[in-house]
Amino acid sequence: MPSHYSRLLGIGEEWKVTDVKLDMVHLKVDIYLDYREKCAPCPVCGTFAPMHDTQEERVWRHLDTMQFTTLIHARPPRCKCERHGVKVIDLPWAEKGSHFILMFEAFAIEVLKCVRSNADAMRMLKLDWHQV
Ligand SMILES: [Zn+2]
Repeated sequence: MPSHYSRLLGIGEEWKVTDVKLDMVHLKVDIYLDYREKCAPCPVCGTFAPMHDTQEERVWRHLDTMQFTTLIHARPPRCKCERHGVKVIDLPWAEKGSHFILMFEAFAIEVLKCVRSNADAMRMLKLDWHQV
């Protein structure tokens, strides 16, 4: 199942799905990812730099898998570039600071274009007024 999820997420070999937890009561799936390379491209200059450490675990919401709310858990890794110092590497599934996965954002915008009201969008996307 983990490799099935890495294909679904469209992430590269450098990320490994370490765990998938299905919560049948709350209709939720939690996917845990780990970066497994010893170096990564610096987000500023693209030069490969050795890994430094990881930040605290963060959670991103992905597009739902069937009716399940899908959450991605990962500790963003930091590399140490000779020129730019310690930097969080680019995460293939999210823009910096976003709690929503890029695919979810694109999907949410499509939904907003199609629905008659924000209330409909909130119900379909399971988001609150502020998020919509
Ligand atoms: Zn750099």
